[in-house]
Amino acid sequence: MFINSHIASGYIASRFDTDDRKWIFLWMFAAIIPDIDGLWSKTVADHHSILHTPFFWVIVCGIGWFIGHVRVDNDIKRIFLIIFLGSLLHLFTDYITARTVGIKWFSPFNTVDYYLFMITPEKGNISIWEMLIPPYVTFYMENKMLTIFEILINIIALIQYLFVYNKTD
Ligand SMILES: [Zn+2]
Repeated sequence: MFINSHIASGYIASRFDTDDRKWIFLWMFAAIIPDIDGLWSKTVADHHSILHTPFFWVIVCGIGWFIGHVRVDNDIKRIFLIIFLGSLLHLFTDYITARTVGIKWFSPFNTVDYYLFMITPEKGNISIWEMLIPPYVTFYMENKMLTIFEILINIIALIQYLFVYNKTD
């Protein structure tokens, strides 16, 4: 899934947070954070590092949450809970929209790559930056259902921003 859609999905998810305005940027950040591995990956197909496994976020956020628990600091607990939920949301949407690489849900215990629609790994032998231009972007949009799904996420986020976020109670 494209970065903007990840940000949009984090924004939509923040809506379900009872204290959404305070944590809204953290939700958006948490929903893109696994893609940091794109910075050091050579290709789109191999950019799913350990940051794209639930195991990593369970450990990191578990430790963070525990520190918050020991220090009796609800904000620290909240921060790591949001990072956990946001990163899982990222992995789930990457799983749904997988085109060249899926999600190894059970890594490191098994290395099976999971995806909803058939993937074409050889199409992902391009740099991360080439994702935004043809031929990758045209290949990506060949799956009309996923294209509509992604566009809808962005539209819903925009509607939420215009009609919900700006509304003063
Ligand atoms: Zn990703």
